[in-house]
Amino acid sequence: MNIHRLTQDTVGKIAAGEVIERPAAAVKELVENAIDAGARRIDVAISGGGVDALEVRDNGKGIAFADLALAIEPHATSKITSIEDLKALTTLGFRGEALASLATVSDLRIRSIVAGAESGGQLRVAFGDAQQTSHIGWGGGTAVTARDLFANLPARRKFLRQPQTEANYVARMVGGYALAYPFIAFSLDIDGRRVLSTDGNGDAIGAAVSIWGSEVAGELVPLQQPEDLAEGFAISGVVSTPDLDRATRQQQFLFAQGRLITSRQLATAFEQAYHTLLMVGRHPIGCIQIDVPADRIDVNVHPTKAEVRFADDRLVFSMVQRSTREAIIGRAAPPSIPTIVSSPLDDWTIQRRLSLAHPEQPSVLPERVGSPESPPSREDGSTPLVGGKSLPVLRVLGQIASMFIVAEGPDGMYLIDQHAAHERILFESLMPGFETRSSDKQMMLQPLQVTLSAREWETYVTCRDELMSVGFEIDEFGGSTVLIRAVPAVLKIREPGKVFQMMVDEMAGGGRGTTRLESLAISAACHTSIRAGQALSLLEMRELVTQLEQCSSPLACGHGRPTMLRMTADELERQFSRR
Ligand code: ADP
Ligand code: MG
Repeated sequence: MNIHRLTQDTVGKIAAGEVIERPAAAVKELVENAIDAGARRIDVAISGGGVDALEVRDNGKGIAFADLALAIEPHATSKITSIEDLKALTTLGFRGEALASLATVSDLRIRSIVAGAESGGQLRVAFGDAQQTSHIGWGGGTAVTARDLFANLPARRKFLRQPQTEANYVARMVGGYALAYPFIAFSLDIDGRRVLSTDGNGDAIGAAVSIWGSEVAGELVPLQQPEDLAEGFAISGVVSTPDLDRATRQQQFLFAQGRLITSRQLATAFEQAYHTLLMVGRHPIGCIQIDVPADRIDVNVHPTKAEVRFADDRLVFSMVQRSTREAIIGRAAPPSIPTIVSSPLDDWTIQRRLSLAHPEQPSVLPERVGSPESPPSREDGSTPLVGGKSLPVLRVLGQIASMFIVAEGPDGMYLIDQHAAHERILFESLMPGFETRSSDKQMMLQPLQVTLSAREWETYVTCRDELMSVGFEIDEFGGSTVLIRAVPAVLKIREPGKVFQMMVDEMAGGGRGTTRLESLAISAACHTSIRAGQALSLLEMRELVTQLEQCSSPLACGHGRPTMLRMTADELERQFSRR
């Protein structure tokens, strides 16, 4: 093939594919346009995952009739005039590409009116073809509707995920903007069902509760702006306390200059703030907004502006980490109560601590009881008391760090992780009732209202039957809100709403069991068991250990973490150089 110029049509399609990679990207561009137009209310609706149709409607300043045709021209914008303006950008848009791109890959309709105009204007353009503008009656603001996204780009369409997944991406996107812009009332309808709405009264925690549900209200803290920040730098937002965690990073949002961005570095900074406070594999949620002086950030490095470059990236990193850490530590209990609430030390740390005397000699590290790598063995060759299955009778001696129970067995010292142990006990006592669907129910004195996120709702719908069969009694209340009327009695749940949501959340992450029922039991056991950090009486510890002795697989919790470590008398003797 000789070198030749691509047709305008092809160029347009290639460019459009970069900006609008999927329905959520289109929604993001339209929401940003609405914010730039000063909207105080933004209503989003999608159907068929946003591929069949997506619409963003706002009450912003509108587009003049005479400008309508220009708005969909490539590189036509009202926001900048030269590249110099990027240094002092106050708007989210600046490239003039979004509407042009959308007009190329969808059947697009824009309806709008500016203040004082006699009538509104409408522009229709289907897949880049002849546009028509006409006058219409129109109440106010702007609505942009795109239908049949990518119908003219079959390859791109094939690349899209299931409508439900695409809808989840849209929900995450809109949720993020609703969190970051509490002064704007947002709503999102998916296939005619309202899945989120905020009231736009400016209260960031209130908006967060609308998005994440009322059960998390007590677990959210606002970020404090550090006093020593350099001129022009600012940080704000809402983050979860270590008492709340999720199976995925889905609900972590980072905004820079008001724009949703992705940054692995800053996500790391955020999660580092929870170091030792959250269990490995669990994630905090939060929405963090960073502002830096306009000339210290390059927003023009990525086609969808999803990535940005900070001139002072280390400063920004520590801003995120410090503010988050201060917010969650400031919230923590008084110093006498351990701040480690949900995260027992990892095995490695325990082993290190136990072998302080000779850390350089890994051979004397205590073995993990019954773990696959170190099957319990007895030097005298007798049958191990601790096998893969049963436990010897243990004598409880006390508790360490409100986390571990110290006990003596016939062959040495045992350290038991109280949370993991209780989780195992609960799991084994839940399973039979779950499997035979014969768990007793405990009616709530007052039904409890729980609002699920869009993603949680989808998961809830798929495991509704199982939830009912294990003892939950749930009414659907409209939207993604449910009323919990009864809970499985075995759980003796303190915070049923939270536990319910955690269970759904963990199911959304795929669940940890081999069956749905098993996943539910694992997660129910985990979220209702006693926590690390809880002081236990000798009687309680004895009861726990007795129950653990009766378990059929006492050595690991439902998630597969060990419930105990053993140090034999031999090893102790060696540690003290008696041998
Ligand atoms: P950009 O946002 O980069 O300027 P767009 O293609 O997204 O480019 O929009 C082109 C122009 O159309 C904008 O500069 C703005 O003047 C106008 N516009 C788009 N959406 C809206 C809206 N919702 N309200 C008012 N004006 C809008
Ligand atoms: Mg734009």
